[in-house]
Amino acid sequence: MVITRFAPSPTGNLHIGGARTALFNFLYSKNQKGKFLLRIEDTDKDRSKKEFESQIISSLKWLGINYDDKEIYQSENISKHIEVAQELLRKKHAYKCYCLPEELEQERNQAVAKGLNYIYSGKCRNLKEEKNIPFVIRLKIEKNKNIILHDGVQGNVEINTNTIEDFIILRSDNSPTYNLSASVDDKIMNISHVIRGDDHKINAIKQIILFQFMGWKIPKYFHIPLIHSLEGKKLSKRDNASTTDDCKKIGILPVALRNYLLRLGWSYKDKEIFNKQESIKFFNLKNIGKSPSKLDFERIKSLNEYYIKNLDQKELFNYFIIFVNEFKKKIEEKYLKIIFQNLNILKNKAKTLEDIYNNSSFIFEYNQTLILKSNLINEKNKVYLNDFLEEISKIEVYSEKKIMEISEEVLKKNNIKFKEFGAPLRMILTGSSKAPSIKEIVEILGINETITRLKRYI
Ligand code: GLU
Ligand code: ZN
Repeated sequence: MVITRFAPSPTGNLHIGGARTALFNFLYSKNQKGKFLLRIEDTDKDRSKKEFESQIISSLKWLGINYDDKEIYQSENISKHIEVAQELLRKKHAYKCYCLPEELEQERNQAVAKGLNYIYSGKCRNLKEEKNIPFVIRLKIEKNKNIILHDGVQGNVEINTNTIEDFIILRSDNSPTYNLSASVDDKIMNISHVIRGDDHKINAIKQIILFQFMGWKIPKYFHIPLIHSLEGKKLSKRDNASTTDDCKKIGILPVALRNYLLRLGWSYKDKEIFNKQESIKFFNLKNIGKSPSKLDFERIKSLNEYYIKNLDQKELFNYFIIFVNEFKKKIEEKYLKIIFQNLNILKNKAKTLEDIYNNSSFIFEYNQTLILKSNLINEKNKVYLNDFLEEISKIEVYSEKKIMEISEEVLKKNNIKFKEFGAPLRMILTGSSKAPSIKEIVEILGINETITRLKRYI
């Protein structure tokens, strides 16, 4: 059975790269009717934080990346990691190293001075005597052997063991290091396919060595090229949209982000839009690209625009409410109703939920200070506005045709361009610089509210 896992360290918010790794693992396991597990790699006590754990878990939920079973905490497996270290020691695949940090520092400095790449000298590899002082446990890597990583994305990666140091698997305080914990956990969890970022390629070699020493079946590895910024640099926290929260905050829909992530370094023919079923059905590992992909925020937004246009009205509105409740001032029920009824107009040209929020703000937040500050209303255009008010007072229900006719008449009668009357009218009706067109504003506000707002200024 195919069993995959996503193994984030809870040392920060879920970033775009992590979300994509999780998505690929999820989709592959579902495509193969297997399992997808979540393992929180929280062995680093100082840097792991509960808040990041819950942030990662809720982001996965938000994206619809559902893991099977309960989440697994690496810290709960530490005794097993230690057992394996002890077993490797007994089998002479590992040894105790008593070197002091200062000694190692000195070794390192000497190597650097000679312009060499430092790796631990292996001084303690063949010590005959046990000493009664603190030690770390290092893996005893066989010299001059070629280890091949048969990578499903990168092809065969061959490395000579002379370039790999006898790395530490257990620290002197008895805490396991990443490569020990990850290998043991992958074994315990019966992971069949390890799909992760290609910054872990060298770790894969170290993990393969450990698997071989233990006589365990080695999982299949797939190292996905990392995501770069548009400028081609490694993504950093400073790039906007580098975390899923950055996207959520401005009102990117989870379906849109998911679809974007799916196509980031993976493709299926020319298909651009995938629903959940399709993504599970079509996902495979052989279509993962070999070169780094670039994070294109404009592309995320235009995909989002596509979903805003095409989603069912109710579904879109639900997303909108969730967004407002989490990031904005609460909107009163009666205004929400108006927004829902006019969502088709308000979502026009919106790329994000935030755009819809801004387009709607004239409904629930009629801010009159901006009207006065704008200086748009003067004695001259009050005349045009008054003409408009008189005509509109004669109609009872909104009709687009009628509003257009009235506007035309006002323009003709006063011999002016639309802007001269449209700009102050918009300002009076909305108190906002962001709003739909005049006829849409009148449609949404209704004739009565339109008249009320106008009368305050003329
Ligand atoms: N905790 C590691 C990370 O977040 C996971 C590496 C792995 O998938 O083995 O990069
Ligand atoms: Zn040593």
